[in-house]
Amino acid sequence: MEHIVIIGNGISGVTAARHVRKLSDKRITIISAETDYFFSRTALMYVYMGHMKFEHTQPYENWFWKKNRIDLVKGYVEKVNHQEKKIQLKNGKSIIYDKLVLAIGSKSNKFGWPGQDLEGVQGLYSKQDLDKLESFAPNNDVCNRAVIVGGGLIGIELAEMLRSRDIAVTFLVRENSFWDGVLPSGESQMINEHILEHHIDLRLNTNLVEIISDENGRAKAVTTDKGDTIECNIVGLTAGVSPNVDFLKDSGIELGRGIKVNRFLETNIRDIYAIGDCAEQHETIGNRRPIEAVWYTGRMMGETVAQTLCGNKIEYKPGHWFNSAKFLDIEYQTYGWVFSNQGKKEYEKHFHWRHPKEKICITVAYHTETMEFLGINTFGIRMRHEIFNRWLSENRNVNYVMEYLKDANFDPEFYSQYETDIVAKYNSELGTSINPQKKSWKRIFSNH
Ligand SMILES: Cc1cc2nc3c(=O)[nH]c(=O)nc-3n(C[C@H](O)[C@H](O)[C@H](O)COP(=O)(O)OP(=O)(O)OC[C@H]3O[C@@H](n4cnc5c(N)ncnc54)[C@H](O)[C@@H]3O)c2cc1C
Repeated sequence: MEHIVIIGNGISGVTAARHVRKLSDKRITIISAETDYFFSRTALMYVYMGHMKFEHTQPYENWFWKKNRIDLVKGYVEKVNHQEKKIQLKNGKSIIYDKLVLAIGSKSNKFGWPGQDLEGVQGLYSKQDLDKLESFAPNNDVCNRAVIVGGGLIGIELAEMLRSRDIAVTFLVRENSFWDGVLPSGESQMINEHILEHHIDLRLNTNLVEIISDENGRAKAVTTDKGDTIECNIVGLTAGVSPNVDFLKDSGIELGRGIKVNRFLETNIRDIYAIGDCAEQHETIGNRRPIEAVWYTGRMMGETVAQTLCGNKIEYKPGHWFNSAKFLDIEYQTYGWVFSNQGKKEYEKHFHWRHPKEKICITVAYHTETMEFLGINTFGIRMRHEIFNRWLSENRNVNYVMEYLKDANFDPEFYSQYETDIVAKYNSELGTSINPQKKSWKRIFSNH
């Protein structure tokens, strides 16, 4: 029986395994060094914040794996020998594969800062990181202040986690405004304000220079390029992630920043595939990045590769971009493409609306000439994924999107609705006279 070996028990590896099992009777083994069982990485923060126990982040009961004949091996893979189709584990054991799926995820970036390997300096990625945080920052007696370096989605999560235990946080952000390489300026500005309101000491346009050690090799302060020294008990390094590929350096598998794959998620070596955070497309797909370190990308790649492994070779086609996240109390969703001020395409125009008092806003991107709707970012308003997916596929005009915006709203009925105000502002800026249509369930659930 063919043996499928998967390295990595995250969303991508586990999705691949589940789908191979649905489609076939092949022997399946998943190897991971991190935890015995798959857990939801995106929920790690809620464990520290006391909303759930670690066990509750595991989407499947422990019996699931045996019942579905998916063998789990805990161990670190040191080497892939593709000539012998064998992988070598650190504990001395080796495993023979017929087909190998690399689903090895990411690691937190370190940029060679002096002191980056001291005790009390950590990223926020793994279960081990969570355990470290619990031991170094259990409360504000043990940890007076934390310094977080790098303003992205993980940095703000770490800040929220620490604030939930009343630990003082200084947040060093290299950019002039929070996440302004991704968010248009109105949104980025609103998040700056929100961070400050949460009593986080946000320092924009500031770089880490050095982490200073105490006499026991533990971080006790950082210095910045503004000439400040900030005393702290822990340092969180959240300046992005990169594929966890170091152990593959001499394997013969082609690497860039990640593991190079074609549209079928095949590497340069026959019978070896790569999926999830660690996979790097040779050629980008539309506006997408060659490496996409997001949850649903891993899931889609897992489903796709399973088809290929089971004889139905299919291309990875991710569809329209979407994502969602949370900035402290503000929910964020994005559908299609809305680029930041720096990344904006020459044909891209933005319409921005912000609530006069609350932290609620939207930005709609459209084509300057054709007026085609390109994408939307929403903060504090929940939208319907299927509706935007449909409108993007139908190449709808932005005026149409405005007219039927109420159909896209996914907030509960009793929530305040803002479409009338949004469309009024749109009309006044663009000189249109669009009359927002009432929400229609018939339209929402129809296929066109
Ligand atoms: C704190 C945090 C919050 C996030 N929030 C969001 C969010 O809100 N939305 C979103 O879309 N994405 C989010 N992400 C990103 C998302 O979690 C990742 O994109 C996704 O989990 C990656 O899945 P994966 O299966 O590719 O890799 P991983 O989940 O990283 O799994 C890879 C596994 O392989 C193991 N491994 C690696 N090398 C070896 C080896 N040599 N031997 C044995 N085992 C090995 C690793 O230890 C790991 O367990 C978040 C990430 C973090 C860290």
